[in-house]
Amino acid sequence: MGFKTIIEPFKIKVVEPIRITTPEEREMHLKDAGYNLFGLKADHVIIDFLTDSGTSAMSDRQWSGIMLGDEAYSGSKSWIRMREAIYNLTGYPYIFPTHQGRAAERIVYGALGGKGKVFISNTHFDTTRANIEVTGAEAIDIPVPEASDTALNKPFKGNMDVGRLKELISKHGKENIGAVILTVTNNSSGGQPVSMQNAKEVGALCRLNGIMFILDCCRIAENAYFIKRDEKGFEDMTYKEIATQMFSLADASVMSAKKDALVNMGGFFAMHDKAFADKCRESLIIGEGYITYGGLSGRDMEAIATGLEEVFDPDYLNYRIKSTAYLGNKLHQKGIPVMMPIGGHAVYIDAKKFYPHIPVENFPGQALACELYLKGGIRSCEIGSVMFGHTDNKGKFVPAAMELVRLAIPRRVYTQSHIEYVIEVFDKLLEDREKVSGYKITEAPRYLRHFTARFEKTGVKMSVSGGR
Ligand SMILES: *Cc1c(COP(=O)(O)O)cnc(C)c1O
Repeated sequence: MGFKTIIEPFKIKVVEPIRITTPEEREMHLKDAGYNLFGLKADHVIIDFLTDSGTSAMSDRQWSGIMLGDEAYSGSKSWIRMREAIYNLTGYPYIFPTHQGRAAERIVYGALGGKGKVFISNTHFDTTRANIEVTGAEAIDIPVPEASDTALNKPFKGNMDVGRLKELISKHGKENIGAVILTVTNNSSGGQPVSMQNAKEVGALCRLNGIMFILDCCRIAENAYFIKRDEKGFEDMTYKEIATQMFSLADASVMSAKKDALVNMGGFFAMHDKAFADKCRESLIIGEGYITYGGLSGRDMEAIATGLEEVFDPDYLNYRIKSTAYLGNKLHQKGIPVMMPIGGHAVYIDAKKFYPHIPVENFPGQALACELYLKGGIRSCEIGSVMFGHTDNKGKFVPAAMELVRLAIPRRVYTQSHIEYVIEVFDKLLEDREKVSGYKITEAPRYLRHFTARFEKTGVKMSVSGGR
């Protein structure tokens, strides 16, 4: 206590080399990838901030648990440990493993969705939206209005707009609402946390109307950190107690274990209602695997059980949130338009403000993501009109609400000097920002186009000089 330096609360026991590429190599690699960072080889990336999903470093306890993994087809010891860890945390009696979060989403929203149904969320994550829309249902985002003011430094900008929720329930009719989904923290809206008060209000409205209330709880531990720090009345509770209280407000939860369970693969869904569980169980067996492993190996389940304990360690959470804020605040001090306050798992840059001369139909976020790679070998992720924009049935371009670039920080992977390097790369980006131009899409699939779309540069040639 009392020291400014945030030390990583772990020692490094195994290392993975990073290859240092040149700007010329990177220009070639990015061109080959169709200017889509998902298309790069990981070995051509110096600092990989593409995602915090499945990129955690596991602990010595998790790795030793791998050897204890029980690979029995049915009733595996590792499943029993995983189920117990989830039950202790969530209190849900019906718990099902899946190979990752979107498999849980496909099953849960497949059971609740269909033509004519409406889903309402603070913000649907991209795979959540896709799994809802593919059933023919509609997905509506109602973040609080201050969520789109990226400069506003206010806690709990991840909240749902409860007034709008009331309006939407009367507009669509409660019987047509598949579920109300609270994403904690709100990944697609800056990784901003959701307050307990908001979860209580949303839960109360759902209960009153008999609507299913689901938590997308990928980052529930990070969210609990913000509640303890910023919401009155939670100062003396543990992070785990706060998470458990939030779970108790919802009817069901969906989790990608690749986030706060500190593993490389896995997920689950869990609920109170038996009839709903019965419906989901069938599709789990058809699509994922038997009910005691879902799509997972015994060793994966062992690591999830341990990760769900480790993530609530106060030293870990303190380091996690403060080191993310360190990067964000340093960029903010340089005048880079970062989303404020800094979220839990990532720093988000407002690319529309960083490149005001690039029109949204030429994807300023994509331009920024490409520049970060070309200048510093940093891989980030556009969360803007490439991901959420579309062309309407009159052929008109409809942009996303925001043009963000996400620097997602893998858990327990990078050290302070990696972060200092990233901060330096931004100095290079500031040097020639007016010269950078936008992109256009040359090829894209119908759903989740950001993963595989290809791009071409538009306008003036982009400068890639300097910066190793
Ligand atoms: C990652 C994520 C998902 C999907 O999980 P996968 O494990 O990637 O399939 C769903 N919701 C949110 C909020 C996420 O961050």
